[in-house]
Order: sequence, then structure tokens, then C-alpha cells
Amino acid sequence: MVDAHQTFVIVGAGLAGAKAAETLRSEGFTGRVILIGDERDHPYERPPLSKGYLTGSAERDSAFVQQPGWYAEHDVELHLGQPVVHLDKKTRTITLGDGSTLIYDKLLLATGSEPRRLDIPGTDLAGVHHLRRLAHADRLKHVLTSLGRENGHLVIAGAGWIGLEVAAAARGYGAEVTVVEPGPTPLHGVLGPELGAVFTDLHVEHGVRFHFGARLTEITGQDGMVLAALTDDGQEHPAHDVLAAIGAAPRTALAEVAGLALVPREEGGGIAVDASLRTSDPDIFAAGDVANAEHPLLGGRLRTEHWANALNGGPAAAKAMLGREVSYDRVPYFFSDQYDLGMEYSGHAVPGSYDQVVCRGDLGKREFIAFWLRDRRVLAGMNVNVWDVTEQIQQLIRSGRQVDPEALSDPSVPLTSFLD
Ligand SMILES: Cc1cc2nc3c(=O)[nH]c(=O)nc-3n(C[C@H](O)[C@H](O)[C@H](O)COP(=O)(O)OP(=O)(O)OC[C@H]3O[C@@H](n4cnc5c(N)ncnc54)[C@H](O)[C@@H]3O)c2cc1C
Repeated sequence: MVDAHQTFVIVGAGLAGAKAAETLRSEGFTGRVILIGDERDHPYERPPLSKGYLTGSAERDSAFVQQPGWYAEHDVELHLGQPVVHLDKKTRTITLGDGSTLIYDKLLLATGSEPRRLDIPGTDLAGVHHLRRLAHADRLKHVLTSLGRENGHLVIAGAGWIGLEVAAAARGYGAEVTVVEPGPTPLHGVLGPELGAVFTDLHVEHGVRFHFGARLTEITGQDGMVLAALTDDGQEHPAHDVLAAIGAAPRTALAEVAGLALVPREEGGGIAVDASLRTSDPDIFAAGDVANAEHPLLGGRLRTEHWANALNGGPAAAKAMLGREVSYDRVPYFFSDQYDLGMEYSGHAVPGSYDQVVCRGDLGKREFIAFWLRDRRVLAGMNVNVWDVTEQIQQLIRSGRQVDPEALSDPSVPLTSFLD
């Protein structure tokens, strides 16, 4: 039983943290809720940073999780621009950047992840960018506008989701774009070769140049400005700006100093939590990008960097903090928008885990659903410009049923027929 005098602290004022605070209140918790973030902006969602906000079709304010007044109205003590620098689990104390301390009864770590940095000469030049924060998006938007105006060149390191979304936004502004990617296709590790090629074609049609099978080795410059990006096969790409979009790393520093159990990087990294999102300390929980959770449905551990996992994981952790029975078993889900292509992906199918890819619809027209199967069971599904099928795809994954791949590839056979 949780009493009204308890103090629940949430470190990380992103989507998972803000949603957890919201759930604590909506579930009737009347104790103190303290939400601490090191950014100055109120909690916001990051997907618009590489989509609507970056392209100019959405306002900055539309990214906020709640209206700024919501926190005070719901008696959530919001501390912004305040890093938490230390965690002592024995005394249940956290230390903030200004040296002040707070004692918690329950703690949620929702510290998210941070962009990986290029470890090459030239990354200190003014035209080298990352994209994680609203402040980064503000700057990048300004950069893309001037690149477009002056026919300037943007080199993007990494053909993952963020790299591709920024490539699309940059082409929208009229910038010249080259994407350098070590793999043979974009998103190779997530989608495999056939479906990665769909994204190659999409971007090439919009004027993006790809340089596959190569890595950046140096960014050259003059007077602090970027001049070119060099690759390990000896090529030189003219560049006015460079975006490093080479993935993210979970922010586990606090968990590390506190001695909480972590998961090694080769197993996904992050803070180890059970299916109720509880860490190795019974009073500390973790959710969102930073949490590597036991997944009851998938039967193993999983850490994802997906909006939906922060949206749903924050509330699940909040309920667990309140002592409710929680088994967090959502089917992983993410989405992307590039030019006129919109997609949603449900499930989890890493290379080597599936033995068949089945497509239903028209790949050429970019209107299809792709399914990743193992032993004729659906592990994952991606719908591209086909809508209102996520529920069925997720049910198919959950059911674990064997399906006839030929029937699955036939759009005239309703998806619901595989669930009867
Ligand atoms: C540009 C971009 C586009 C994306 N687009 C999509 C998309 O289309 N679809 C999708 O599914 N996912 C997308 N994602 C991923 C999605 O945004 C993340 O999965 C989600 O933000 C994770 O939420 P979180 O709350 O766990 O972490 P975060 O959003 O990273 O929030 C964590 C917060 O904690 C703060 N923090 C960290 N350490 C401390 C500390 N010690 N003290 C105080 N504060 C701290 C951080 O600064 C941050 O504000 C995108 C991500 C980015 C960057």
C-alpha cells in the first residue's frame, strides 16, 4: 500500500518520464511527484524533430507532451535544466547538478538515450550536427533553410531512420544531400536487403545520393567551417554541413554509479529491468529508451528506442511503482514518415531470427505490407502507405499461429482470416 506521504522521483523529463508523472496522478497517487530533466524545454516528443517540426509543417509547441501549465495544475514538481549527477541507492538519495539532494521512496530512471558521436578528426567544426533535442532541431532547421537557399551540401553519416528522415526534410528545402552508410542498403539491420532497397529507390527518386559500403574518416574544414567529408575508400564529398546520425546509446551513467544491474552493449545495453520494469533495486524502476526489459511475449530481453515504448512504458512503470501487478508485454511498434511514404512497423525481427519475408501488395508503388516469418509464424510486420492494419498485424504476432505464406501474400485474403 502506498501512503500519501511518500515521494516519487522521476529522473528524465522526456516522454516516458512525463507519461509516468501523468499516470501517478491519474491512478490517484497523492504524495509528492518530482520530475527532473536536464533540458530547459518542457517534456516533449522527439518524432517531430526529424519530421513535421523540421520540415516546417508543425509548430514547435505541438511537440510538447503537456501544456506547460499542466505540471503545476497536477501538483507535479517539475525541475528543468537540472541534471541529476549522483544516485545513492542505500540512502535513497539523488544529487542534482547544483549540489542539492532529494530523498525518494520510489525512483524512476527515464533518462533516454544520447546520439553516438563520430570518433574522427573534424567533429569539432561548427557545421557538424546531431539530432536529439529540440534545440538541435531549431539549429538544424535553420541550417537546412540556408543550405536550400544557397544550394549547399549536407552529408549525412548513417542511413537509419533519423538519417533518412533528415535527408527527406533537407531535400524539401532544396539542399544537396549525400548519405554515407557502411551497409549495402538503408536500414539494413532492421529491414534486410529487399525492403532496404525500397528506401534507396525512394530517396534516389528525390535526388539523394547514397554512398554505401563506406564510413566517414575525416571532416575537413577551414576557419572552423566544414569543407568536405572523406570516406575510407578515398572519396571526398563536398559538404557545408554534416549530420552524424549513427545511432544512440542509453544514458545509464546514474544506474552505473549506483551499482544497478546493466545489460552488456552486445545484448542491447541499458538498465536491466524485469517485466514490471523494476531494476535490480526494488525501489528503482526504469522505462523508455534506457530500459532493457524482460519481455513476456518475446521470451527474452529487449531494449528499443521507440516512441511507443516511452509512451506506454512510462505509465507501466508508474503503476508498478504504486504496487500494481504489471507485466509489460506490448508488441514493439514504431513509425516513420519520409516524403509521401508513411510506414508503421510492429514486432521484432532481427537478421538471423527470421527465415522468410513475405510481401503483400505492390512494392513498386510503395503500398504494401511486409511480414517477417520464422517457421511460418509472423515475427514482425511493416505496413507502408497501407493503413488501419496495425491491430491485425499485432494480433497475428501475438497469436504465434502458423500461417500459409502464399495466402498471406495475397491482398484479397483478409488479414482477419488468419486470426479466426
Ligand atoms: C529526431 C528523432 C526522431 C525520432 N522519431 C521517432 C519515430 O518516428 N518513431 C519512433 O517510434 N521513435 C522515434 N524516435 C525515438 C523516440 O523519440 C524515443 O524512443 C523516445 O524519445 C524515448 O523517450 P524517453 O522518455 O525514454 O527518452 P528521452 O526522450 O531521451 O528523454 C529522456 C530525458 O532525460 C534527460 N536526462 C538524461 N539523463 C539525465 C540526468 N542525469 N538528469 C536529468 N535529466 C536527464 C534527457 O536529457 C531527456 O530530456 C525519434 C528520436 C529522435 C531523436
